[in-house]
Formats: sequence, structure tokens, C-alpha cells
Amino acid sequence: NRVVRLKSRPATMASRENFDIVDEPVPEPGEGEFLMRADYVSLDPAMRGWIAPGRSYVPPVEIGAVMRGFSAGHVVKSNHPDYREGDAVAGLFGVQRYAVSDGERAVRADTSLAPLEAWIGGLGMPGLTAYFGLLEVGAVKEGDTVVVSAASGAVGSLVGQIAKIKGARAIGIAGGGEKCRYIVDELGFDGAIDYKAQDVSEELKRLCPDRIDVYFENVGGDIMNAVLGHMNTFGRVAVCGLIAHYNATEPPPRLTNLRSILVNRLNVRGFIVFDFAERNAEALTALAAWHSEGRLKFRQDVREGGLDAFPDVLNLLYTGGNFGKLVLKL
Ligand code: NDP
Repeated sequence: NRVVRLKSRPATMASRENFDIVDEPVPEPGEGEFLMRADYVSLDPAMRGWIAPGRSYVPPVEIGAVMRGFSAGHVVKSNHPDYREGDAVAGLFGVQRYAVSDGERAVRADTSLAPLEAWIGGLGMPGLTAYFGLLEVGAVKEGDTVVVSAASGAVGSLVGQIAKIKGARAIGIAGGGEKCRYIVDELGFDGAIDYKAQDVSEELKRLCPDRIDVYFENVGGDIMNAVLGHMNTFGRVAVCGLIAHYNATEPPPRLTNLRSILVNRLNVRGFIVFDFAERNAEALTALAAWHSEGRLKFRQDVREGGLDAFPDVLNLLYTGGNFGKLVLKL
């Protein structure tokens, strides 16, 4: 079994030195457990937070422990009443080729609805995050203007598409012309802002003449300051992620637009997808239906190189090197 274990905590971007990537015996499933073999491992921005010390919404991965992560694959042996050999599964199995599970944080992946790798993407944690973040935290309604950052990514691309499904306008902020063209031309966003080449605040003024009702925050930093300056009265800010801060060694830029929260009476709320876990089935039904109707597209960025490539592939997320849901094929 090829296993990625945490060796040390990085000070900034993680590197190969922070992990032990080793061969170990394949574990045996006990009573009520199954053994799965992963075909795809998910790379998620949160991984950087999971290996950082200090208080968070989950305890940090311990030094020496298997790296936390989602994967999708097949059951190869089962002593679990609900799983049979050959079943496609996805879940929080850790960054390793084989994993034993008792079924906790796992789902059976129905590959007639979407390919296996989508079960760690549009029908996995990113899909659930976009769904609950926009509908529950952002409380989007018809006619709203929604702005989302990291808009071409796993979560952001779905946020804009779900906003459109709900009758809202969707404006995305992304890095580079290709990603901006993609979200407008392929995904049907109403507008895009290339934060690397354009003045975000000027473009928001132009593209959101009636101001912004929902901001779905994935990035933080200067982009958050710019968007806050254009919020509408009683607007909602769903704070989903702050990727610009995850590897920072300097303190993040100050929030310069706090006054907007007051004068516009904004509801600014952080959330973690796990908060909504008891409603995952409802979200999956909706996401799968929109996907099968062709209204919700999933873009995968599949990388080769096996588990040894894990640290380098992970870092693509923090440099914008990925284009779509980043996964490692094993
Ligand atoms: P993405 O597929 O969106 O990949 C990350 C993207 O972030 C990059 O492609 C890049 O896009 C952008 N980015 C990276 N660094 C910066 C930076 N310094 N400034 C601006 N943009 C940057 O990843 P996900 O969709 O998986 O995750 C998106 C966000 O959602 C993350 O913040 C993540 O932590 C959060 N998240 C939160 C969850 C929750 O429960 N709250 C659950 C899942 C995800 P570009 O090229 O456009 O710059």
C-alpha cells in the first residue's frame, strides 16, 4: 500500500520534505469494515489548513499520520453489510492507495449519474459546498446579483452555475483570460473579471450596476476588500474560503471596507460544508439532476504521477495552476 504520511509542518507552501511517501502492507478489513482501493485522490485547498498547527474546525493531521483526504475507488474486500466487492465508493479515506473504512464519511458512488472522479468533485465535497454555501448561507433568490471568487475552480464554477439555475445573475472573478472566457462562454456566467489583468473594483462597478446581493468568498485579501465596497443593502457574504491566506507568511491585508458591513447591514457568515452533513442526500439529488439535465457542468483537472506527485500537485491550487477540480489519478 502506497501511503502519504505527514512528516513535518510546512512554514509556507508544503513540499516533498513535509511528507513520508512509503510502501506499507495492505490493511485487512475487520468486522463491519471494507477495504477500498482508490483510483482518484482529491486535492483540496483545505489540506494546507489540515496540516497547520492550531485551532481549526477539525484537529490538525498528527505528525506521522496518514494525510487526510477524499478519494474515490472500488471496494476490494468487504465485511460490511452495506458494501459489496466491486462497489464504487467515495469518501474521506486518506491519501493512500488502499484504505479500510467502517462506512463513516463514505458514500456509494453511482457511476450511472456521473463518472467516479465526479464523486470527489461536483458530487463530492466541492459540490456540496457550492450548494449549501450559496443556497443556505448566501440565501440566493431570483434576480439577485451573485459574485464569486476563484470562479473557474471546483467550488466557484458550481456556485455561478447554481446561481443561474436559481434565476440570479452570476459574475465570476478568476485569474487569466482563459478561465474568464470559460466561465462566460461554457458555463453561462453573465460576466467575468480577470483579477490579474483588470481593476476588480472598476469592473464590479461596471458589471454590477445594481450592486451585489451575494458574495461567495473563496479567496480573501484584496479581492474581498474590493467586493465589500460594492455590496447591496442587506447583502450576504458567504465566507467559504480564504485561499490567498493559506500559505501566507505575512499578515493578510487589512479589511478596509468594514464600514460596508455596517451601512449595508450585511450578513457575513463563515461556514464549513460538514455543518450541513445531515442534508447531503438532498443536495446530491439536486446536483445530480442538474448535471444530468446538462445545466451543471463539472470540469475535472486530472493529473498523473501517482501518490509521489501529491505535494507538487497540491501546490497547483495555491498558484492557480489548476483549471477545474484537481484530482490525482492513481
Ligand atoms: P479551486 O479549484 O478553486 O482551486 C483554487 C483556486 O484558487 C486556484 O485555481 C486559483 O484560481 C485560486 N487562487 C489561489 N491562490 C489565489 C490567490 N492568492 N488569489 C486569488 N485566487 C487564488 O479550489 P476549490 O474549489 O476546491 O476551493 C475553493 C475555495 O473553497 C478554497 O478557498 C477552499 O478552501 C474553499 N472550500 C471551503 C469549504 C468549506 O467547507 N468552507 C469546502 C471546500 C472548499 P485563479 O487561477 O482564478 O486565481
